[in-house]
Amino acid sequence: MTIQDRIENVVIVGSGPAGYTAALYTSRANLQPLVIEGFMWGGLLQQTTDVENYPGFPAGIMGPEMMQAFRDQAERFGTRFVTDQASEVKLAAEPGGLHEVHVGDDAYRARTVILAMGAEHKKIGVSGEEELGGRGVSYCATCDAAFFRDKETIIVGGGDSAMEEAIFLAKFASKVTIVHRRDEFRASKIMLERARSLENIEWLTPYVVDEFLAGEDGALGHARVRHAESGEERDLPMSGAFIAIGHEPQSGLVAELLDTDDEGYVITEGRSTRTKLPGVFAAGDLVDHTYRQAVTAAGSGCQAALDAEWYLRDTPEVETPAGMPAGDLAEAQWAPPRS
Ligand code: NAP
Repeated sequence: MTIQDRIENVVIVGSGPAGYTAALYTSRANLQPLVIEGFMWGGLLQQTTDVENYPGFPAGIMGPEMMQAFRDQAERFGTRFVTDQASEVKLAAEPGGLHEVHVGDDAYRARTVILAMGAEHKKIGVSGEEELGGRGVSYCATCDAAFFRDKETIIVGGGDSAMEEAIFLAKFASKVTIVHRRDEFRASKIMLERARSLENIEWLTPYVVDEFLAGEDGALGHARVRHAESGEERDLPMSGAFIAIGHEPQSGLVAELLDTDDEGYVITEGRSTRTKLPGVFAAGDLVDHTYRQAVTAAGSGCQAALDAEWYLRDTPEVETPAGMPAGDLAEAQWAPPRS
């Protein structure tokens, strides 16, 4: 392991809207942040097509284009990037202590760390799901629906995501069967009604998927499903299966070090992004199981940047970073009312 000589002011782990917004703000605060952005930088929005609900883009914008713009904007003010995965973090417990983020054979030391690893699509965890990923099993209809034009497909799940995916997929597929483990749906009434109004959407409840199986061509051919109460089994022929059963936070790196809730979301203090450890902040989908929007994640990345800057400025044990006169940017840029 090579420990880098430089002591970083801010290391940001993660590169969705939260991570890049934290980078934008901390770079504008002259803190020269280092973003550990992963190989697949840009987060879940990289897998999205049109984003129509991010303010400022009246005609919409493609997800990957938006993330490129986020990244470019952060880079413009001096953000540096490591396009690799963080493999381990070591977090100091005392104010002013240095944290460490490991990436490959390098260890980066930092006065503050902003965690923004986001969330990933939840997996069902059945046989064939992983093996047939990219060959019929998908977690993103908006990305992959066009491959299933005039084909039979299923959606697994009963929430708003499942309805949204089904409605989108129904524009391409000949048939979309929604397979859900209960007769009641968690999805909102309006989304359910929209899905119910489409003729090529069918419903199969209460059923669970036990296995995905390949056809002769090696791609997904059918799924074995089971009635959740009677146990009756049946085979459903299909070319595509879209799993929309929610998300799980990518908190594995810090699960032993920070407090998390039952679902693994990192717990922060009150309305701040502070975690229980000094100089460690968390933002975006990693902490939010309620809103999970690009715009709320970006807002929370901004909060984390401000919290990190205030920590650097106000913690007596921390050496004030070069180029950051105390109070300078907080007053010049944001003039935040501090209680
Ligand atoms: P969700 O509301 O948590 O729904 C997840 C669904 O997947 C539930 O129906 C659940 O079944 C099912 N499920 C969970 N684990 C499963 C498993 N292992 N096997 C089979 N089924 C499983 O998640 P979501 O749909 O992603 O929505 C998350 C939040 O985003 C919600 O607040 C939602 O309103 C919001 N959202 C809104 C929109 C919109 O308004 N356009 C679109 C997408 C999401 P049970 O019901 O039996 O637990």
